[in-house]
Amino acid sequence: MDEKNNEIKQLKEQLFYSPAHADDVLIDADKAQADEFCEGYKAFLDSAKTEREAADEIVRMAEENGFRRFVKHTLYAPGDKVYFPIHGKAVILTVFGRRELSDGVRIAAAHIDSPRLDLKPNPVYEKQEIGYFKTHYYGGIRKYQWPTIPLAMHGVIMRADGEKITVSIGEDEGDPRLVISDLLPHLGAEQSKRTLAEGIKGEELNVIIGSRKYPGCESDGVRLAIMKLLNDKYGITERDFQSAEIEIVPAGKACDVGLDRSLVGAYGQDDRVCAYTAVMAALDTEAPEYTCLSVLTDKEEIGSEGNTGLESRFLAQFIEDLCAAEDADVNDVLRASECLSADVNAAFDPTFYDVFEKNNASYLNKGVVITKYTGARGKSGTNDASAEYMGKIRGILDADSILWQTGELGKVDAGGGGTVAKYISHLGVNTVDLGVPVLSMHSPFEITAKYDVFMAYQAFCAFFKAE
Ligand code: MN
Ligand code: MN
Repeated sequence: MDEKNNEIKQLKEQLFYSPAHADDVLIDADKAQADEFCEGYKAFLDSAKTEREAADEIVRMAEENGFRRFVKHTLYAPGDKVYFPIHGKAVILTVFGRRELSDGVRIAAAHIDSPRLDLKPNPVYEKQEIGYFKTHYYGGIRKYQWPTIPLAMHGVIMRADGEKITVSIGEDEGDPRLVISDLLPHLGAEQSKRTLAEGIKGEELNVIIGSRKYPGCESDGVRLAIMKLLNDKYGITERDFQSAEIEIVPAGKACDVGLDRSLVGAYGQDDRVCAYTAVMAALDTEAPEYTCLSVLTDKEEIGSEGNTGLESRFLAQFIEDLCAAEDADVNDVLRASECLSADVNAAFDPTFYDVFEKNNASYLNKGVVITKYTGARGKSGTNDASAEYMGKIRGILDADSILWQTGELGKVDAGGGGTVAKYISHLGVNTVDLGVPVLSMHSPFEITAKYDVFMAYQAFCAFFKAE
């Protein structure tokens, strides 16, 4: 009987698949390295709360690591490293490979915008001697999550005199924070009858900015006092908000979560977790076989729109510019190219298990997640990666013993979503989604596992160096 049991056990091991937990397969040195890697990751999150800040920080990191600004018609040598900024909100890092461009390039594409509240063009108002900013939310937020948490404001204001003012208030130790109010439970009976989606409505996401009046002012005294304060500090008037982009984001720094410090908690990990890991992979790649691009894009959260989103031609244009020096045909290059669309997936949440299909969900600590398709209502709106390309990526990850799993975004018809994958595959590039599982995605405080973050970095490194 023992023999039979042994045979069954062996057969199961040989034939069944279930994803492994990092603690069961990683060696101690890798675990320590993952923790160390995430110290840099947390610092990046703190310095990059908006797409503009992320783009600036990535350029800074690139320059520090020997990247130079791309110059069209320059013939670059294998191992040369360049960066190319797109309107201050997106960046492409390139490490030139040993092969010619017409053999294709390797692309890792992550987005650096995150869901948030944007100020309206005429944001400042006062009601019953409280000063407010009016906001219009950006991306898929759950509105009820935003009141009663400390908020900060980040962005730029273009003054009438042409000067660009950079604003960041609410992050430093001594800074004031901003906040959106909510009802006390004692008076919340009517509000509690609203659906969760309507618990706080869009026009209720009003940010408190002050409550003291300009001395002697009879009406709009708080508004005047706030505008005087902003005028003294930045030289701006209300009119200047019309040529501004100010984002309200959760205040505070990234931190370890869990008594065991196994997790990272922070705002904006979708998708700066893949942005950071893809950037670090580019920084650490030396003279690869194929030319490698880390593409850090904007506007993914609202459908990749605009001239800094991947529905625009900025990536194709850049590859055309690369082709110019080598006299390569851009269509040949794109058709031969491969891409990891680097974006997060929903980690299985045991508290809300019934929206997941547990055999096809991704899990914290089970490594980087490959998502063959996204979309909704029967895969609509997805890039559905081919078996051949899945097989190739699988081979690359397995060759480097990188812990990976597959993941679907929830049960069939439970919801859905999309990534930049379909815009890159439109160009003819073989593409699949690969990224980090996230708990509480799109919330003001998202959660990732340190092991998974490190595996994403390793996956991009393996992809870039593969021959
Ligand atoms: Mn994303
Ligand atoms: Mn997202």
